[in-house]
Amino acid sequence: MSDQVHTSETSRSAATPPGHFPPVEDLVACPTCDALYQLPDVPKGARARCLRCHTVLTAPRDGAMTRIVMLAGTSVILMLAAIFFPFLELTAAGITQRSSIMDVVLVFADGPFVGLAIAVGALIVILPLARFLALIYVLAPMAFGWRPARVAVPVFRLAERMKPWSMAEIFIVGVAVALIKVAGLAHLSLGPAFWAFVALVLITAVKDTFMCRLTIWKTLEQRSQW
Ligand SMILES: [Zn+2]
Repeated sequence: MSDQVHTSETSRSAATPPGHFPPVEDLVACPTCDALYQLPDVPKGARARCLRCHTVLTAPRDGAMTRIVMLAGTSVILMLAAIFFPFLELTAAGITQRSSIMDVVLVFADGPFVGLAIAVGALIVILPLARFLALIYVLAPMAFGWRPARVAVPVFRLAERMKPWSMAEIFIVGVAVALIKVAGLAHLSLGPAFWAFVALVLITAVKDTFMCRLTIWKTLEQRSQW
């Protein structure tokens, strides 16, 4: 039996006759508590929330795909800036040390910590970058109203799987904590890469608020049949 769903504008019932179970492809599971719903068409600008845990199930917005593509493009540029520009400059006892994120990764590349170098490189640079590029690949054709790219469905699925492993924001929190510890021992100055990284984390957060996964999956499904 499917529950009812409230949209922010109207309360609609997705009632099903007793004893009749709707087809599985019409059902949507709440990503948090797995409650099943038969969603009505939610108008643009409205939200449908789970009755049990209030997780947003769908929140279609006008022009969301174009905005996500533009924000993902901005993130790619910021990430490239964050990799190659100086991240941090430390001065202690007259000696100045400047390092970029690439230097941090390469410091561990020799010796026993090579696994750590690979993990740091993958989690804070390669996976977030791959995810931004995957989102552009999947959403850019649809933002223009075209048919989705050839392997858009598996690429979007992969981008969704990568999400928990893209740890750019955790890295920046870690750096902030480390900086507080080091601040008393040396003179610190933050490079352009640090600010590029902070901007990247904020843009990623804004991008995720625009991203309604259900709408993207539905659009992918509909347009793949064109
Ligand atoms: Zn729920």
